[in-house]
Amino acid sequence: MVESTEARLDALDIDVDEMVDFLVGLLNTPSPTGDAARGVSYVQEALADLPFATRITPKGLLTGTWPGQRDDAPRAVTAHVDTLGAMVSHIKENGRLGLTQLGGWIWGSVEGEGVTIFASNGQRLRGSILPTMASIHAHTREEGAARRTAENMEVRIDALTHSAEETRDLGISVGDVVAVDPRVELAQSGFIRSRHLDDKTSVAAIYGALRAIDRAGLTPAQTTTVHISNYEEVGHGGATGFPADLAELLAVDMAVVAPGQTSDEQSVTICAKDSAGPYHMGLRRRLEALAQETGLRWQTDVYPFYGSDGEAQWRAGGDVAVALIGPGVDASHHYERTHRDALENTAKLIVAYLLSE
Ligand SMILES: [Zn+2]
Repeated sequence: MVESTEARLDALDIDVDEMVDFLVGLLNTPSPTGDAARGVSYVQEALADLPFATRITPKGLLTGTWPGQRDDAPRAVTAHVDTLGAMVSHIKENGRLGLTQLGGWIWGSVEGEGVTIFASNGQRLRGSILPTMASIHAHTREEGAARRTAENMEVRIDALTHSAEETRDLGISVGDVVAVDPRVELAQSGFIRSRHLDDKTSVAAIYGALRAIDRAGLTPAQTTTVHISNYEEVGHGGATGFPADLAELLAVDMAVVAPGQTSDEQSVTICAKDSAGPYHMGLRRRLEALAQETGLRWQTDVYPFYGSDGEAQWRAGGDVAVALIGPGVDASHHYERTHRDALENTAKLIVAYLLSE
């Protein structure tokens, strides 16, 4: 499209502040996997003034299709709004809560963190996750240093309870969801520190990309389904929710920043391979070419312990080309950090892809 050269450049002019505002609101909206509806609704409201309708499927994920210039090879872009979290597994004799994990995290990563308990009676109670032998004045150093496990970690509720019965009287039951505080902090330097940047950063990048395309007066080159999944952290978020004639799926999920990885907190990464094996070579090479010609800060990387909603779609039988890109996130599934630049570069690559022939 000749007329679109200037508009394409407009579309690449991402409003990063708008994306960050959206992200902060989403980070502060608790959405642990299995109880992600608050996050799904937040995103649905934010997308409401775009030129296509969205709907929430019976499974609870958000999907909507933006008609493109063509529809002979429909595309989808997905990110997940569900996060790590926990669920009450039992109520202890002392009134404190035993937990079972929602998603994969290590117990040490949540030590001392504030939590919200979504009680069965509709109340929200506050508390924190602590080792059972937290006080150094009451336990030996060996006891205090014990490896953190489900057995020696618990929730101390900020309410008057000293027995299982009193806790049940607060309205708390086995199966209630416990959300870990994100503790969002924006630094002058552009860093964004928070839990659950996986994968809310990518949801924000999709949001920013869609708004930028719309503001430039453009539509995607191919009919494009926007898909916000709600069960990625347990492996099947991307298994469903796409049109039957889908040709390409761009999964957007955090890139792994750690020693030995090429990914960093300012780049968008194109993932070549993760635990499920290599992504689609043709689509990956196209994305690398797009990143290069758009002048992005980008990397190609391989993740040693990682799965995505792209994998979920393949395992569910999807006959589509799948690629994975995402913003670099340091200390994933711990107290994470990324940078505004990663958000911007990821949004730009999504724009470049959606506008590409
Ligand atoms: Zn993720």
